[in-house]
Amino acid sequence: MIAKVLVSRCLLGDRVRYDGQASGHWDLLLAWQAQGRVVALCPEVTGGLPTPRPPAEIVGGQGRRVLTGEARIIASTGSDVTDPFLAGARAALALVQAEGIGVAVLKANSPSCGNEQAYDGTFTGTRIAGEGVTAALLKQAGVRVFNETQLAEAQAYLDL
Ligand code: SF4
Repeated sequence: MIAKVLVSRCLLGDRVRYDGQASGHWDLLLAWQAQGRVVALCPEVTGGLPTPRPPAEIVGGQGRRVLTGEARIIASTGSDVTDPFLAGARAALALVQAEGIGVAVLKANSPSCGNEQAYDGTFTGTRIAGEGVTAALLKQAGVRVFNETQLAEAQAYLDL
């Protein structure tokens, strides 16, 4: 049976980003989609946030600290958007568990999807080592999380 992969919707050309845009088209991802491998999700939209929406950052940039209640996610307007972000992360986890998915390709640097870096919560464009809240939850569940600059690694992992 073909291995499925969870993919951020904005990497598939869907205009679901906070600014109402997509994050490009990625040929390999579209090829996987044509093969029926892709399960697409935007955690923030699934969590109940509108598009467009104000940008948001994790205070301290560590999604795992959001999961433990030690950090919050704040929009540029000052609103606390932690709850919809957590709802989106839980929806992603439920989806990978329901579909038996062990690999995800998620958008780099997002407060939901980023797998290695995140903005630090100061809205100064400062990225630090960390991860989004969905990426953190999926990693804790044992999912291998890649980003759009790591497609060859994701492909190699899927082909194992
Ligand atoms: S990075 Fe993740 S949460 Fe943000 S628009 Fe893309 S899919 Fe949605």
